[in-house]
Amino acid sequence: MPLVLYDSLTRAARPFVPRDPRRVTVYACGPTVYSHVHIGNWSMFVVADVLVRWLRESGYPVTYVQNITDVEDKIIRDARAEGVDRATFTARWEARYLAGLEALGARAAIDHLPRATEHVDGMARMIQALLDGGHAYLAEDGSIYYRVASFEGYGRLAGVRPESLKAGASGRVRADEYEKDAVADFALWKAWVPEDGDVYWEPAFRVGGARRVVKGRPGWHIECSVMSSALLGEQIDVHLGGEDLLFPHHQNEIAQSEAAFGKAPFVGYWLHHKHLLVDGGKMSKSKKNFYTLEDLTARFGPSIVAGFRYLVASSHYRQSLNFTFEALEGAQATGRNLREAYERLGRVAGDAAPSAAADEAAARFAAAMDDDLQGAQALGALHTHLGACNRALRDGTLAPADAAAARALLERADRVLGLFLGAEGRGLTAEQRALVAARAAARARRDWSEADRLRDRLAEQGVAVKDTPEGQVVSFL
Ligand SMILES: [Zn+2]
Repeated sequence: MPLVLYDSLTRAARPFVPRDPRRVTVYACGPTVYSHVHIGNWSMFVVADVLVRWLRESGYPVTYVQNITDVEDKIIRDARAEGVDRATFTARWEARYLAGLEALGARAAIDHLPRATEHVDGMARMIQALLDGGHAYLAEDGSIYYRVASFEGYGRLAGVRPESLKAGASGRVRADEYEKDAVADFALWKAWVPEDGDVYWEPAFRVGGARRVVKGRPGWHIECSVMSSALLGEQIDVHLGGEDLLFPHHQNEIAQSEAAFGKAPFVGYWLHHKHLLVDGGKMSKSKKNFYTLEDLTARFGPSIVAGFRYLVASSHYRQSLNFTFEALEGAQATGRNLREAYERLGRVAGDAAPSAAADEAAARFAAAMDDDLQGAQALGALHTHLGACNRALRDGTLAPADAAAARALLERADRVLGLFLGAEGRGLTAEQRALVAARAAARARRDWSEADRLRDRLAEQGVAVKDTPEGQVVSFL
């Protein structure tokens, strides 16, 4: 059975046919690095990771890009409030993001992690192409806006009716985020205002035959169109993001890329991750049910990332995952059972040989993943097979070859879903574990300055170590 993916634009599940099977391209909107990433966004990054891993397991050579938004309204506001420059501010949050991505096992699959500020020249070029094509204009406030009325089909992704669109000077928005009913011309390039401080670039644009230097900074939406085309080409196979990005962000990406490059569709398959719920309700800071990965590791320890990953892998990305601590701990226990089964099977496994039962389980696992990434069913096939193996193991009737086949199946599931096999929910990278061990050794020989230096190095990576009578306790910042 071929892989089928649900595309939000055509609102249909369609067989996956890449534009060029020799180079499959996947783009996921990454974080705006200005604060902690909440578990709803983390679950999206895990889903993107699982998709890429499954495509590769299925034989597709994938190039996977996830951007880092390091210039944006909220970044400028918060860096200024803290009195630090933009680069220092975003570097700190970026390091924490990358440490979390690594802990969740979702970093290695990414080929490129471009920062928006590294692509400002490309943004100026793309904005120029939009100006030349009549899709953009320089307004009296000095900013350059996208002319929404110039793009046929604007609003289609979110099902916004074109007649409700407002265009021109009366309906311009400079802010990066706005509501669905405020459809309007959006900012591609924002003229410098005093609040921007030293965050600005000074590209020159040709406007109406004249050369104009426009001191300012890019809007958020143009960043993704430019980074995706720079690294993946003008049309891409799969684009992922949270459902909150569907409008206006993804609609604006379509409008920018298709108008600038004259090629459609910009994206073959739009995958949108449904919002995560907490205790059956919407996650919000005011309800105090707003969790970050750091909150979970502080409460349950660093190995809980394995449980969180399992919880996401066993849900479906188009259905709201209802997050509860009970569900998290249940997922942690189930994941641990799989790791223990892997170890147990290893003690009796012999040379691998064809196993009809394992082959059938592998086929059911693959069929579930091919069906728009049905992780729960895929894991169900795995558990059913392992249950039978466990019973045979207890009865002393499990053939060494069947144990090897079951382990191979578990390894396959690990490659695709990330089950943390061979480690009890690592949480830390190999380098971080080495730093923690080196610090324990430094403390043992009472080399306090070395211990402090290693603690600072870990802190730079978002890992906190606390000294207790029982030794070091590690958690994420
Ligand atoms: Zn984006």
